[in-house]
Amino acid sequence: MDNVYGINLIPDNDAERVAALDRYQIFNSHREKAFDSICELACELFSCPISHISFLNSDTEFIKAEVGLNGIQYVSRNEGFCAVAILQPDLLLVEDTHQHELFVNHPYVTDKLRIRFYAGAPIITPDGYIIGTLCLIDTEPRSISEKEKKLLKKLAVVAMEQTQLRAENLALLQQRDEFIAVASHEMRTPVTALKAAVQILHTHQDDGTVALQKAMIEQANRSVNKLAFLVNDLFDASRLAARKYSLNKTYFDLGKLINHCCDLLKVSGKHELDIEGDLSVRVVADEERVEQVLVNLIENAMKYAPDSRIILIRISRWSDHVRVEVSDNGPGIDSDQLPHIFKRYFRSENGAPQAGLGLGLYISSEIVKQHGGEIGVESEQGRGSNFWFTLPV
Ligand code: ADP
Repeated sequence: MDNVYGINLIPDNDAERVAALDRYQIFNSHREKAFDSICELACELFSCPISHISFLNSDTEFIKAEVGLNGIQYVSRNEGFCAVAILQPDLLLVEDTHQHELFVNHPYVTDKLRIRFYAGAPIITPDGYIIGTLCLIDTEPRSISEKEKKLLKKLAVVAMEQTQLRAENLALLQQRDEFIAVASHEMRTPVTALKAAVQILHTHQDDGTVALQKAMIEQANRSVNKLAFLVNDLFDASRLAARKYSLNKTYFDLGKLINHCCDLLKVSGKHELDIEGDLSVRVVADEERVEQVLVNLIENAMKYAPDSRIILIRISRWSDHVRVEVSDNGPGIDSDQLPHIFKRYFRSENGAPQAGLGLGLYISSEIVKQHGGEIGVESEQGRGSNFWFTLPV
């Protein structure tokens, strides 16, 4: 289809504009009531027979919602009015197409739709890209007041807000689906190992050697522990998200707790756990939850920094808080991953074989925040990580 306007319809920033549109995943989507309702409202408010919401990619205008266009969905960029409307950040107003040199010989004016009036308000992303339009069309020439122009532009803002909400919803659904895939994958391995161990024990209950029985019981034990760990993380994360979590605070010895955690974890690993600083500090906090945070940070260092011989746990006392640091000399964390590290479900791509569900740091940060403390990390790729948290004293 040739360009019916004979003018350049491609703005300088078109590639970025189309990339901005793609972010919203709305092109080619199904009809949705919320967008139809905006068009219905526009027709009612302006007593107009036709209204539509369109999004424009590099070559096609996609009509997401419409009233009065008989379900038409696609128009060539070289023909649609939207292509002209997106060239400016203000309303494109054509009160009478017969008096407008760009539209007087347009096929939609002379022929198909017999359009006489057109008003197109740009749909603009928060970062300034015009990705589509909200349009009013009439088969009679007409004019609209300043107040009506403002109203139409406001409706285009509502269309943008709806587009954004829709994209956020899609992202959440996508995140949920990815999480279900990760969780089921992580659980399948221990379930399979557990099933196999129980089956072998069952088959050889009368003739199995003690060594075989011992090995299978160990395998079952490991799998049950892994499953319990995954289920506990899921349970804690959902309780935290629903704010169904209360702290059982007591006055206890933080240094003693750190020693206890290290004794527990030392058994399982090849790492040296060194403790440094003021071990006499006492805090008012939920001891079990603080232990959970400590174990998570130390276990993460063991999991994600397997070659760091020493893991250093440092405790320091400040005027109104105590600070606990867990540092390793492992691979560190990519700077563009750092801002996401405490988010729910976040797992880096180069995850360790015993990676969890991406909930450990989220749970830790919620626990620390609930105590009125802060949590953070300093890390550099190749130079290790220093995770820290504070608790008020
Ligand atoms: P999980 O519960 O799956 O272990 P976490 O929320 O505890 O997940 O950690 C999220 C991500 O942070 C991990 O996938 C890992 O990539 C990264 N991470 C956590 N601790 C460290 C560390 N000490 N060194 C390097 N990466 C780490």
